[in-house]
Amino acid sequence: MPHTYDPTNIFARILRGEIPNKTVLETPHSLAFHDINPAAPVHVLVIPKGPYVTFDHFAAEAPAEEIVDFHRACAKICAMVGVEEGYRAITNAGAHGMQEVPHYHLHILGGRVLGRLVERA
Ligand code: 5GP
Repeated sequence: MPHTYDPTNIFARILRGEIPNKTVLETPHSLAFHDINPAAPVHVLVIPKGPYVTFDHFAAEAPAEEIVDFHRACAKICAMVGVEEGYRAITNAGAHGMQEVPHYHLHILGGRVLGRLVERA
């Protein structure tokens, strides 16, 4: 996967405060906010504040402090948003993953039975 970061992407603009978001949690290295077009009753996006394009980019290059902060933030979100009966944490990458916003983000979805992981081709 190419890891060239585009600083004009919509989540970079959210991080710069250029467009609003419904924040659920902010930590030193991460931000969690409600998805603007929720696919389930709970649909929160968790993003690192650093300029990472995809999961593999973040996992390969982020400092340990940022990786720990991000995952602790995800754990806090799971405890905060009412997904006691289960949830799905997914990330899309690149064209085949149908990634829309090229800033790494984890979708945390819940509040209903979510169906199977992917459509079978
Ligand atoms: P992707 O397809 O890249 O994995 O997911 C991008 C997600 O970002 C989509 O679920 C979409 O609804 C959400 N999204 C796109 N633009 C905005 C925005 O301006 N604000 C918020 N809160 N979510 C957005």
